[in-house]
Amino acid sequence: MRVRGVARKSGALFRAFPQHMAKTAEKNDRQAWLRGPRGSCSLPPAKQERVRRLVLLGAPGVGKGTQAELLCGSLGTCQLSTGDVFRAAKALTPDELSPALKAALDCMRRGELVPDDTVLAMVSERAGCLRCGGGFLLDGFPRTVPQAEALERLLEKEGVKLDAVVSYELPIEQVVARLSGRRTCGGCKTVFHVDARPPKRAGICDHCGANLYQREDDRAESIRVRMAAYVTSTAPLQEFYRRRGLLISISAEGTPETIFGRTMDALGKC
Ligand code: AMP
Repeated sequence: MRVRGVARKSGALFRAFPQHMAKTAEKNDRQAWLRGPRGSCSLPPAKQERVRRLVLLGAPGVGKGTQAELLCGSLGTCQLSTGDVFRAAKALTPDELSPALKAALDCMRRGELVPDDTVLAMVSERAGCLRCGGGFLLDGFPRTVPQAEALERLLEKEGVKLDAVVSYELPIEQVVARLSGRRTCGGCKTVFHVDARPPKRAGICDHCGANLYQREDDRAESIRVRMAAYVTSTAPLQEFYRRRGLLISISAEGTPETIFGRTMDALGKC
């Protein structure tokens, strides 16, 4: 089964892109990632010239999710977002949620990081996705140094190595402006921005006509908490990966197309 919302979101994004960028916009099936041991992917990994195993870093709102989709489309790999797993869990009934997952969703609503133990248990359950023949693109994980150390151990156990860690950089004021203006379609999940990418009719999705909403964690109070968590916990990862010779820093200023071009150029050199 395909992840319809995500596929629709990419479709909208790729329409604005030159043909060569859109050529592999076909989405990978991420059921094994989103559902964990309860799910398995029905599509084999896309055939690729070179299998890539990447981590994306960057403050919330730098456009990491958009770049992840573009990179996956072009490299034929799968976007493994821990945030997407938590968002998928929101659809479960209270009986289906473990106490740890319930607590994790409360952290998420407040904009706080989910405790390392919970995140690591969730990723370990999905370790099969790390040894997938299609490679992977981790988005939103690791977010703390202990998570990065645990990832190193997991990858070693799976017998695979990271190729690069791409870190998107943007001045903090721009990050806050991007996050507070972001609106998501309740139907097809297309992402708009009140200034930079407004819908034709305010509050209504251009593609499916459903209402747009503001993510709970994109509200002002949560943004402040998320930014503080980023500065304290996630920013030190840049140094962690720089020391390992894996870090590639990319400016996240400009259009998604420009940032994507920069990223592909940099990846071509590594
Ligand atoms: P994201 O979509 O990556 O911005 O993640 C949304 C929210 O999920 C974050 O604000 C955290 O509450 C939680 N989350 C996702 N990934 C992690 C992680 N690796 N460590 C801790 N919390 C996470």
